[in-house]
Amino acid sequence: MSRNLEEPRRIAFAELVALLERIFVRFGTSVPNARILATNCAQCERDGSLSHGVFRIAGYVASLNSRWVDGRAVAAIEQHGPSFIRVDARNGFAQPALAAAMPLICESVARAGVTMVAIRDSHHFSALWPDLEPFADAGLVSLAMVSGLACVAPPGGRKPIFGTNPLAFATPVAGSRPLIFDFATSAMSNGDLRLAAKAKHTVPLGTGIDADGALSGDPDAILSGGALLPFGGHKGASISLMVEILASALTGGQFSNEVDFSAHAGAETPKTGQTIIVIDPTRGETRAFAERVKTLLDCVRDAGQARLPSDRRYQTRAQSERNGIPLTMRQYDELVALAQ
Ligand code: NDP
Repeated sequence: MSRNLEEPRRIAFAELVALLERIFVRFGTSVPNARILATNCAQCERDGSLSHGVFRIAGYVASLNSRWVDGRAVAAIEQHGPSFIRVDARNGFAQPALAAAMPLICESVARAGVTMVAIRDSHHFSALWPDLEPFADAGLVSLAMVSGLACVAPPGGRKPIFGTNPLAFATPVAGSRPLIFDFATSAMSNGDLRLAAKAKHTVPLGTGIDADGALSGDPDAILSGGALLPFGGHKGASISLMVEILASALTGGQFSNEVDFSAHAGAETPKTGQTIIVIDPTRGETRAFAERVKTLLDCVRDAGQARLPSDRRYQTRAQSERNGIPLTMRQYDELVALAQ
């Protein structure tokens, strides 16, 4: 009897991490880097950040196979002044580079009250919230931004210049999980656009343009010769510009439109830069910072905003922890095949 491959196959977090770790190791990452990347990817799947969960494994594998990224890289970390840390990811993934810098970042922010982390020569292929949640859990406020692959045209233009350039912010909240927002500065993330193309769904007009520069709701037309657009016209475009300046110019990384992996067939991961700013809120006027944030969020909810950023993610996480992470049989079989 043939199996229905679309049937759910629930998997525990630790089992998924172990499976993904085997894939990363098999395709050339070191064991410590594989553990960090596997945990990051499983966290995304667990929380329902599906555009950066197991869907991305094929892209990780293709980039590793093409030798565009060094899965064994060990980052070089330098402190420049009391509150500035430079991280050279040495053509490796951004998450192991950040993990390597973590002890120095914590020490620096405790000493200086604020720390700027400038990561260069790094491949970021995931959501940003997993990078920031540990800071918020430690009572710190943080911001992160990453430049990517040029696939977003500026308003009025046709040529892709910006990456989808996500921006994330995280803050502790008294009595509950941190508030984190994390989104692309394009009208839609590239991952979601590709998922829409795969599912043969149209996307809202304003998401992108086709090869002739006309607004299009067809994900295939946007992906083949067209471009995404920034969210919010000139406002989103300006934020995207800021991300390029802070995550690439300031760090010493490449701009999104300088990434050239044409010599690495199949490569998908952007090699640019990432900026993270970490702030100790106890240096501000109020010692009751997290309570003040809670007061504000209560007002926002009372005013009628039923869903705040990260509410949905924590709900999905709780469901995954109770029932297992819902993959399909097809996804599970594909991961097992890749791991062997
Ligand atoms: P979304 O437009 O889905 O927005 C995500 C953020 O907004 C989340 O914080 C989400 O909270 C919150 N949110 C979504 N809908 C609502 C709502 N109705 N009310 C209140 N809050 C809401 O994100 P994108 O598609 O733009 O980006 C998805 C991911 O892609 C991000 O994690 C981003 O970091 C990642 N990305 C990574 C890139 C890279 O180069 N590494 C490039 C571009 C994007 P919740 O999580 O609870 O749903």
